[in-house]
Amino acid sequence: PDHGLPVLSATGLRRTFGGLMAVDDVSFDVRSGEILGVLGPNGAGKSTLFNLISGGLPRSGGELSFLGTPLARVSACARGLSRTFQHAALVSEMSLIENVAIGATHLGRCGVLAASCGLDATEERRLLGWSQHLLDRVGLGDKAWDSAGTLSLGHQRILEIARALAADPVLLLLDEPAAGLRANEKTLLADLLLRLRAEGLAIILVEHDMEFVFRLADRLMVMNFGRRIAFGQPEEVRADAGVQEAYLGV
Ligand code: ADP
Ligand code: MG
Repeated sequence: PDHGLPVLSATGLRRTFGGLMAVDDVSFDVRSGEILGVLGPNGAGKSTLFNLISGGLPRSGGELSFLGTPLARVSACARGLSRTFQHAALVSEMSLIENVAIGATHLGRCGVLAASCGLDATEERRLLGWSQHLLDRVGLGDKAWDSAGTLSLGHQRILEIARALAADPVLLLLDEPAAGLRANEKTLLADLLLRLRAEGLAIILVEHDMEFVFRLADRLMVMNFGRRIAFGQPEEVRADAGVQEAYLGV
């Protein structure tokens, strides 16, 4: 398939923790309008890879380039890049719209909204308008003022994605968004990811659920013990003997 421009490329990425190679010489790229799946058993280095990309964690080696520009060794928070976390970080007492607004203001650490963060009424109205637009976009618009804690797990995952979209990213990193979801919730989530892909977003999808990844990924990377053991079209990867031995358990 003919995908768009490279949004992110990684060359020889490494991260050690003491003597442990959590990410070991990993190279890949992801393009606009593409879903790159990342599979691998527990401890393979998937979350560490996300932490290296999204900048929270300094790398021990390798290069990252975002939209053609090299990212510094610690890229505090590259604009245009958003992520969700393996363990949800929603504020359950707050409304959906406030949770999204936090993502838009980068004021998450304030823990409270506009009034106490010094936004004037016009800015606050604009922020809430943008947040409502994002909730509409992911199909949660009618629940905007419910508290996040009342949502089903599937809707919480979708809310996290809405919050990640608030920064208007070109690359979205999703860490196990389908974990623990029921089949109908997975379908909702898959539909959303396909819509975002069609809008031109680049998505890196780390997932345990192989069926979910194979359904969505344009290309797939498989990791094991920190190393990339396969990278390519899903059918090629599925047929790869090393992958079958290491991961697919066939
Ligand atoms: P995955 O997300 O694929 O399950 P992780 O990236 O979480 O894997 O972990 C990869 C390896 O790095 C594991 O062996 C894990 O124990 C180790 N690791 C991850 N984060 C740290 C850390 N902050 N300090 C020490 N070891 C870590
Ligand atoms: Mg993980």
